[in-house]
Amino acid sequence: MISEKELLQRSDNKCELCSSEENLVVLEVPNSPANVSEIAILICETCKEQIENPEKVEPNHWRCLNDSMWSPVPAVQVMAWRMLNRLKAEGWPQDLLDMMYLDEETAAWAKAGITENSAEKIVHRDSNGVILEAGDSVVLIKDLKVKGSSMVAKQGTAVRRIALVHENEKYIEGKVDGQQIVIITDFVKKI
Ligand SMILES: [Zn+2]
Repeated sequence: MISEKELLQRSDNKCELCSSEENLVVLEVPNSPANVSEIAILICETCKEQIENPEKVEPNHWRCLNDSMWSPVPAVQVMAWRMLNRLKAEGWPQDLLDMMYLDEETAAWAKAGITENSAEKIVHRDSNGVILEAGDSVVLIKDLKVKGSSMVAKQGTAVRRIALVHENEKYIEGKVDGQQIVIITDFVKKI
């Protein structure tokens, strides 16, 4: 766990989201996976209040994310992504989201808060009905022709560290022969 002193140093005594130097507090990013230890960020009371009270959000305050979304700190990236996602109906936050790059783990972390609140949660299941999660490994249960190429992914091929296609419960993504492909969940078995 990062100490408050280290946090102050990392942030240069500024809110890691909006750069304000006043009323700084430590926020532990909610819905953080157990294997991530550095979940604390230093933010100002204004940011904190708006994060915790969606009805108090002033969209223009969050234009600061234009800069802070490029922070090298994953916990800051996660909070920036979540606020942009919350505000995306404004238009400009969606543009920033489109530009933002999160590595796979950070993206899953960022989305963790979202799926929990969403009413219709998409669940991916393998051919036996076993629930699939990002990072799982599966094996192909039949030969699959890869769309748009001459490649055939052979039955029995193990696909490690799959990603879930969030909009569609029938699709997962994974690497076969070094190539990222989309695979239909009916044709895989969790290993
Ligand atoms: Zn702030």
